[in-house]
Amino acid sequence: MDKRSFIKIIFIGLAPLFFPFKIFSIEKKIINPDLSEEQKRIMFGEETERAGTSPLNFEKRKGSYHCANCNAKLFESVSKFDSGTGWPSFSEALPGAFKTKVDYSFGMKRIEYHCAKCGAHHGHVFNDGPGPNGKRYCNNGLCLIFIPD
Ligand SMILES: [Zn+2]
Repeated sequence: MDKRSFIKIIFIGLAPLFFPFKIFSIEKKIINPDLSEEQKRIMFGEETERAGTSPLNFEKRKGSYHCANCNAKLFESVSKFDSGTGWPSFSEALPGAFKTKVDYSFGMKRIEYHCAKCGAHHGHVFNDGPGPNGKRYCNNGLCLIFIPD
């Protein structure tokens, strides 16, 4: 082996030390080993649960809503409202709870949001909500865990 290729191999071997965020960036991470197949399809395959299927549509108690994967706190019950869409809906998320990205699937431009902590897909946010900031977070119920106060 000549000196040059030796240096090249060393460089490639050490590259992850210098560029760890590029090489090891994992956007989405399954943390909860008990997620069902359907939860995984929604949270990591960006599918949507069937409207009207979540028991959380009828949840009216005081408490907070957490990520079913990583348990991060995402919504307070005070921001929950009945949107009539068949999915649990919220007018406000907790600060820093989500990261958003533009989703062009189904020929529509929608803003999709992901848990900021684990990257799991939760739903879409629309600008027709009832609160002061006009937001409507349309969340898959299967992605949430409700913890009553
Ligand atoms: Zn999460």
